[in-house]
Amino acid sequence: MNNGSPGQSPAPQSPHGHVPNAQSFASNHSAIETTAVYDPDAPKYFFQEKYAPLNVKGNFLTLCACPKNVELGEWLAHQIVEQNRLLQAMLKVIQEVNSHTGLPICNETSCPTMSAGRLTYTWLVDSQAAKISAPKFINRVEKWIVSKIHDPVMFPTEKVTGVPDTFALSEATGASAADAAANAGGEDWIGKSSGFPRTFYKDCQGIMKQMFRCYAHLYHAHWLNPFWHINKHDILNMCFVHFVTVAKYYKLVSDKEMEPMQPLIDLFIKQQRIPPEALNGGHWGQQSSS
Ligand SMILES: [Zn+2]
Repeated sequence: MNNGSPGQSPAPQSPHGHVPNAQSFASNHSAIETTAVYDPDAPKYFFQEKYAPLNVKGNFLTLCACPKNVELGEWLAHQIVEQNRLLQAMLKVIQEVNSHTGLPICNETSCPTMSAGRLTYTWLVDSQAAKISAPKFINRVEKWIVSKIHDPVMFPTEKVTGVPDTFALSEATGASAADAAANAGGEDWIGKSSGFPRTFYKDCQGIMKQMFRCYAHLYHAHWLNPFWHINKHDILNMCFVHFVTVAKYYKLVSDKEMEPMQPLIDLFIKQQRIPPEALNGGHWGQQSSS
């Protein structure tokens, strides 16, 4: 069993006791910590209530619930852009190059794989699942999400009046003739009236899944260094709680996918930081009950 090295771990008696050490830490940490290799068995302090502060009053339900006069597709697009903005700010913390070492905290040596605990995420390279380094993986996710958000087919910026031309759309999205035929049958989908493609909701799920993986890596590999050390672990929690509220309320990330972060999610549910209304696809639950 690895109980962690005492010098780098939060003091069990006083979670904030470690923060004053930031001075001694600042002088050593850049050189030491950017070369520390990720240990999947390191203690998971972030799953413990005493290390999981949250400087938010109430919860994120009002920010997440779709206003009555807004079409759901438009609203989900807005939520995705906002979640991406929050995640980017957190990723920046592990990506900034340290002037002493010339390396970011998350680098090829510290994180040779995109891991969250014992779980390693793979990336498809030439249709083969490949274990690429976390910085490469995260970089690809970021570029992929940005390309989706800026894709006028996936995220149309101009509101389309009426129903989009399904055949032109299927050409643009590479959808099959069968899909086009299904669309022509008058089927409805989320975002249809706002001009979003048939795949829009699935695309949102794909984006949120990759975002979740980034959060899982941020916690499992970088909660202690740097978030705890620079006292930004509460901001990380705030972004993550917001993310999970949106993910659960609109069923954008499956429970199975969220398993690597389950203890913390359970804790936030218990504290009602993730409100009960958001659970089990609350958006649709409320609609069917009203
Ligand atoms: Zn990393």
